[in-house]
Amino acid sequence: MAFEGLAERLQGTIQKIKGKGKVTEQDVKEMMREVRFALIEADVNLKVVKEFVKKVSERAVGVDVMKSLTPGQQVIKIVQDELKNLMGGEQSPIKFSNRPPTVIMMVGLQGAGKTTTTGKLANVLRKKYNKKPLLVAADIYRPAAVEQLQTLGKQLSLPVFSLGTDVSPVEIARQAIEHAKEEHLDVVLIDTAGRLHIDEELMQELKDIRGLKEPDEVFLVVDAMTGQDAVNVAQSFNETVGITGVVLTKLDGDTRGGAALSIRSVTEKPIKFVGMGEKMDALEPFHPERMASRILGMGDVLSLIEKAQANVDMEKAKELEEKFMTQSFTFDDFIEQLQAVKKMGPLDELLKMIPGANKMKGLDNVKVDEKQMGRIEAIIYSMTPNEKTNPEIISASRKKRIATGSGTTIQEVNRLLKQFEEMKKMMKQMTGMAQGKGKKKMKM
Ligand code: GDP
Repeated sequence: MAFEGLAERLQGTIQKIKGKGKVTEQDVKEMMREVRFALIEADVNLKVVKEFVKKVSERAVGVDVMKSLTPGQQVIKIVQDELKNLMGGEQSPIKFSNRPPTVIMMVGLQGAGKTTTTGKLANVLRKKYNKKPLLVAADIYRPAAVEQLQTLGKQLSLPVFSLGTDVSPVEIARQAIEHAKEEHLDVVLIDTAGRLHIDEELMQELKDIRGLKEPDEVFLVVDAMTGQDAVNVAQSFNETVGITGVVLTKLDGDTRGGAALSIRSVTEKPIKFVGMGEKMDALEPFHPERMASRILGMGDVLSLIEKAQANVDMEKAKELEEKFMTQSFTFDDFIEQLQAVKKMGPLDELLKMIPGANKMKGLDNVKVDEKQMGRIEAIIYSMTPNEKTNPEIISASRKKRIATGSGTTIQEVNRLLKQFEEMKKMMKQMTGMAQGKGKKKMKM
């Protein structure tokens, strides 16, 4: 998961200072030595580390004059604040043109995830901003990039503009902008050509595209896992082409976090989005504050709530509550729930957003077994509709059939039935309690 190593180190460090009622200069010094080490190990740019340590040290000495928090807690708050500032402070929104179409250029080196991110971003623009995006296939050099974008467009049911690979990227971009105007599409997302390395030709081509119609945004896509290389790439692109923001991909696999923590300071350009997986819905706006909390093990409840809100159908939730109350919850509802949770993303990632979850015994190393969930689904799918509603009718021979049908064992079938039974019992108790309370109130 993202920032794992850094989080672990920093959390260990702040744990020591947390309860202190008095923080001496020596305490701060010692702590900052460890923080410095943690940041360097996370591959954060050296200059950035130095500045960070200086800022925190200055603020941390002499904190004990403040109220409400213990001095130790205040120091942690300062670390969190400065981490947030390091990553840009506030979340940086997308700039849209007031004379559509808005033009967003996607630039980056090959393999960084530019084409994938172009698709993901179009998806976000449509879903969250109600825009009508046009995907433009101008990466004519990487074999199959054009087809890849077309496939993504099909998958997302979004239009893709392409003129094959024989027309120059500048011409493709020009015609695409015209096409968007004619079709009243309001955002043009240009997937420009990547290269293996930064070279003069690439930069010139990007500048030429820029010259067509000053783009509203130029997003550089970089791979978080490449650490300081990503920072150097960002610096070069910023100096030669000029960028307005960064999309950091593969943060899901980046345990160190050096790029995420350095890019803003080095380039002074904000990280706008982060890629958290290969799927089309795995692009998230980058929130420096939430990220800082996550790194320090304070959880990221806001992102968790947003994820839940985006995936939970309120009507369904109400329906479910009703079923809970009347204890008419069936295996069909169960499986629907399972799928709703799965849609929110990998479960172990979700767990890590809960404050303190990484400190809870047993939860720190939890790997939620998605395969296991698949087995549970298979068992339920092997039941008849009547069995799903009334599992108590399932006989021993049926259990055997269900196990065979789902490729599981009788023990697993039994376990699931038992768990379901217990869940229903619990619901009964809970609704009993709720109703009991209600009655009491009425009498009063
Ligand atoms: P391009 O050459 O920059 O256009 O790169 P692609 O879009 O083809 O992406 C390269 C690889 O990175 C593909 O296998 C993508 O699925 C993968 N990828 C892109 N973004 C992410 C991400 O956020 N997380 C993960 N895990 N993989 C990603």
